[in-house]
Amino acid sequence: MSKIHICLPYEDELLYSVLARTRVKNGYIAYTYAAEDFFLSPKTRPDIEFVNAYSDGLLEELEKIKPFSEWIKENTMFYYYSHFIPEDRKTGAFESLMQRNGEHGKNMCMPAKGNRRFLRICPICYRNEIQTYGEAYWHRSHQMMEMDVCTIHNCRLMESTVKISGTASPSLITARPLKK
Ligand SMILES: [Zn+2]
Repeated sequence: MSKIHICLPYEDELLYSVLARTRVKNGYIAYTYAAEDFFLSPKTRPDIEFVNAYSDGLLEELEKIKPFSEWIKENTMFYYYSHFIPEDRKTGAFESLMQRNGEHGKNMCMPAKGNRRFLRICPICYRNEIQTYGEAYWHRSHQMMEMDVCTIHNCRLMESTVKISGTASPSLITARPLKK
């Protein structure tokens, strides 16, 4: 496995989105090749809102950018889902995320598994990012369920075809406003 060059996170970007851009930048054409290098198990389904059991190589590169605890705080939905839960459960969830053991959902108020939820995107953020950076990214703040507009542009968020939960085949897809 060659060294993975992690893309630096943008403001409010999901870690999933950073890894999706990293997949493209490192030339992984097929998801399965990236999965072999990124995760402890190549059968991993990327957790769009949180973290996964990453390979030692990927983790090492992530931690060169900032401590893993900062990735959790700044690039996952941890604060969103743990805002209203008691302190001990919040601590438990954070520890699960630090250990990447997949148990974090047990301590947080997560939506029911059966809910059909898709990653959302603001078309104006998207256009601006493409113009400014030559690429776009998935924002954390666009995935908050009770918010249907982008707080920067007051623009209605669009649903993509990327399923947040459910049985779609695992993938790491970069941000784009796909119409269903
Ligand atoms: Zn926007």
